[in-house]
Amino acid sequence: MARILDGTAVRDQILNELKPRVARLQAAGRPPGLAVILAGDNPASEIYVRNKIKACGDLGICSEKHTPTASASQQAILDLVAMLNQRPDVDGILVQLPLPGHIDAKAVVMAVDPAKDVDGLHPSNLGLLVSGRPGPRACTPSGILEILKRYEIPIAGRRAVVVGRSDIVGKPVSFLLLHEHATVTICHSRTVDLPGVCREADILVAAMGRAALLTGEYIKPGATVIDVGTSRIESREEAARIFRNSPEKLAAFDRRGSLLVGDVNPIDVAEVAGAYTPVPGGVGPLTIAMLMVNTVRSAERRMGLC
Ligand code: NAP
Repeated sequence: MARILDGTAVRDQILNELKPRVARLQAAGRPPGLAVILAGDNPASEIYVRNKIKACGDLGICSEKHTPTASASQQAILDLVAMLNQRPDVDGILVQLPLPGHIDAKAVVMAVDPAKDVDGLHPSNLGLLVSGRPGPRACTPSGILEILKRYEIPIAGRRAVVVGRSDIVGKPVSFLLLHEHATVTICHSRTVDLPGVCREADILVAAMGRAALLTGEYIKPGATVIDVGTSRIESREEAARIFRNSPEKLAAFDRRGSLLVGDVNPIDVAEVAGAYTPVPGGVGPLTIAMLMVNTVRSAERRMGLC
């Protein structure tokens, strides 16, 4: 059976390491400050933001939530960003995506001061990433690197295959792996022979959002598999197929009426891989931890402490 890479344990380590840094900032004058913009009323986004604000509270980071309505104008949101850019006590600005349909999300992300872009999505910061220079990195990709490093998974010289090419996960994680000297292949919906390409991977990163699509034939025996995908399945038939009629999983499905699954078949990955991140409890917990890291680092830079 493959080794489980426990994202919750890595998250706890990272958050513990941040505590003295937050205390040092506080002693130097003020706690780090994070402002979150949550526009409209997307229930999933509300949960994500609640968790981010809670993580700030637990660490002693000062947080505030701005909630423009679903009909707020583009200009109103840009004005809000401009105000937060100017505030000396705000070290990080997070624009929770997706924004309401009529808002140009790229323009809003672009308006955030790159020094306060704790999501690492501003084109300037993406440029720093591509050229391998320091700057805030996107949270989920940098969390993936933390898992690999803290579990001492060798990266240099290994074949890494990333399935998914989004700006938020696929592209940034590919560059982070490249900077760690992996030989990286990026796959997407037009990739020919996806199983064959994936089977070449010593490190397979799945970031598609396709429930349990990658079955055993996609996994090289002994590979490290990082499953970023999160899909909620609501069909009992699908749950039975994915979990091969596991009575325990089907009982969990019946209790909750749904189950969260990744992009990789959970039974196959445990049988074929050498190590893997489970869903839930793998990559997910790292995303908020890395947001906290980026916020603390931004405060340290802005207060001249690093
Ligand atoms: P996205 O923007 O929808 O991108 C999905 C990518 O997967 C695209 O590049 C797409 O290819 C590719 N793809 C889709 N179906 C495919 C297929 N059948 N074969 C090969 N490639 C395929 O998604 P995202 O924002 O990167 O998120 C990906 C997943 O990660 C989602 O489940 C999301 O919920 C999850 N996620 C989790 C966290 C976390 O904290 N755990 C954070 C972020 C995202 P094309 O470009 O050709 O369309």
